[in-house]
Amino acid sequence: MSRYRNIQYETAQICEDGHVITIHAKGEPATCRESCPKCGRPTFTACPSCGAFIPGCEHDYYTIKTNCDTDHVVSHFDCCTKSYEIPKYCHGCGEPYPWISGYIDEFNLLLEKIDTISDEQKEILKKSFPDLLSDNVHYASSTLEIAPLLSEVGSIAAGAFQTLLKKAAIDEVLQLLNLSRT
Ligand SMILES: [Zn+2]
Ligand SMILES: [Zn+2]
Ligand SMILES: [Zn+2]
Repeated sequence: MSRYRNIQYETAQICEDGHVITIHAKGEPATCRESCPKCGRPTFTACPSCGAFIPGCEHDYYTIKTNCDTDHVVSHFDCCTKSYEIPKYCHGCGEPYPWISGYIDEFNLLLEKIDTISDEQKEILKKSFPDLLSDNVHYASSTLEIAPLLSEVGSIAAGAFQTLLKKAAIDEVLQLLNLSRT
């Protein structure tokens, strides 16, 4: 008896704001929605930049072949064995998905409203912010760039940046900034 395995990804449907509609858009199309029931925003099953599918449930396929008189092949897969992690960047083109680019847009919008820091500083901060959203080599140095922003701007603006970071940044960044997600 031999056993072959391979991993295949289902397609996920996720709304612009990052709510997961379904992780089985292909196999169970009835679970798809045109708009998000939680926030009303449009939903995606593919990257808006390049059209690559959004990876959903990880299906661990295995084929069991028994060498009896007649070859008997059983193909089966394990489903939903891992908790689903929402992807941040497209595996096809590397662009941030809408639920991540939304945070980047929001950050840039907040920056524009602040007049206590120079345009030069704003440009540095704009470059640093995306590094705080995913596990990458630059997140620590980028956190140091952002940290003064939370103390130098007025308290309302600092609160707005903190709220955004708590929603978007990875755990390691929040630890460095002494922020907790709740
Ligand atoms: Zn939503
Ligand atoms: Zn599945
Ligand atoms: Zn893409």
